[in-house]
Amino acid sequence: MTDTTAADLHRSLEEHLTSTRDDRLEGYREFLRIPSIGALPEHTPDVRRAAEWLAASLEAAGVEHVEVAETGGHPVVYGDWLHAEGAPTVLVYGHYDVQPVDPLDLWTSPPFEPVIVDGRMLARGAADDKGQIHAHVMAARALTATRGGFPINVRYVFEGEEESSSAHLAAWLEANRGRLAADVAIISDTGFFEGNLPSITVSLRGLMYAQIDVVGSPVDLHSGGFGGTVENPANALAQIIAALKGPDGRVRIPGFYDDVEELSAADHAAIAELPFDDERFRVDTGVPALVGETGYSTLERRATRPTLDVNGIWGGFQGHGAKTIIPAHAHAKVSCRLVADQDPVDIFAKFSAFVADIAPAGVTVGVQDLGGGRPSRTPVDHPVTQAAARALERVFGRAPLFTREGGSIPVTADFASILGLPVVLLGFAQPHDNAHAPNEWMLLDNYEGAIRAIVATFDEIAALPR
Ligand SMILES: [Zn+2]
Repeated sequence: MTDTTAADLHRSLEEHLTSTRDDRLEGYREFLRIPSIGALPEHTPDVRRAAEWLAASLEAAGVEHVEVAETGGHPVVYGDWLHAEGAPTVLVYGHYDVQPVDPLDLWTSPPFEPVIVDGRMLARGAADDKGQIHAHVMAARALTATRGGFPINVRYVFEGEEESSSAHLAAWLEANRGRLAADVAIISDTGFFEGNLPSITVSLRGLMYAQIDVVGSPVDLHSGGFGGTVENPANALAQIIAALKGPDGRVRIPGFYDDVEELSAADHAAIAELPFDDERFRVDTGVPALVGETGYSTLERRATRPTLDVNGIWGGFQGHGAKTIIPAHAHAKVSCRLVADQDPVDIFAKFSAFVADIAPAGVTVGVQDLGGGRPSRTPVDHPVTQAAARALERVFGRAPLFTREGGSIPVTADFASILGLPVVLLGFAQPHDNAHAPNEWMLLDNYEGAIRAIVATFDEIAALPR
């Protein structure tokens, strides 16, 4: 497009966004008032109400074929706009379910009565993720209102089970693969970097989750009568756990690192340039020292290296005072954060084989698979990553950082494996947004910027050479 047209489009977009601001914020608040806590059965009707509210707003925004699609769990809200002939198709993903709100007494105002304080929207879901999907709907409304349509083709997939591990989404994507054809998926469920610096997340870790069960005798034994003659399941479990990781922070499971993509010199350099203060991170975390795998910086260990952690451990006597027993059984939950290209199924197999291998004689050791998810990574040089980067720079006045997250968004890998789509993680929440905690908030500047950056991203994608 010519500069004049671009300037005209920009002006009419700004006029529209200025004149509709109050109405937009009221819509945002209305959406936040619906307590769509996906994990709590008593809120099931609220989750559906949120889906219906979202569907109605998509329709009002000019999106077509809007439906509240059944999944067997909480519904998916789908809609599309497919009239940009010859232009790429983007699949936009976000979620309208929210985390539970306890402990309630730590909220400064009720979680489902949104208030604006100091330029922040304060409510459960304000950032994660209702605020971000509302920005998408408002971007759609702005485009149809000012231009009569989109510069590209768009499909929206908004789910209601993200906070409860997206139980039905993979099957729904699989069943609807035929009608979800797209060129790229944009997921808006992440945030900016420390200091509220615009950023694009280029990788997420995956997960392997297991439980180790060690069983000795059928009942607890007297440690005087039997101590020294039988294996103690709690000692045996401690021995197993101690063998899983070395003092250098390396996981000792054979083959564990086989599929780990090592960082290039350029990757190391890019990560080293990110503004991050180890000492501040240590103090904020409240630990006496930071530790981890030798040879990698804190940021590298947090997001680009796999981990192994005991999440819980129990067995034997835990009451007051002393009770001299050899416990009948002992247990631990152990999980690994995984990085590209580790496969959770393969890592579980290696994990359970190693545990069986090192299990001492005299006890029975079992390992259960408690589920997992694949890691994901998007190339920085993907044209859509670069298009989104230009859009962020245009709107927020600063080129985005390319960051890696230590956590997981389970669906990211599904979009890649089921739909075969590259995924660009374009999120707008500011750091320390208290997602999942009391007093969740979203900076209105980020929310408003998100709407403009989404429009700009679509324009940048439309302008990519075909
Ligand atoms: Zn989220």
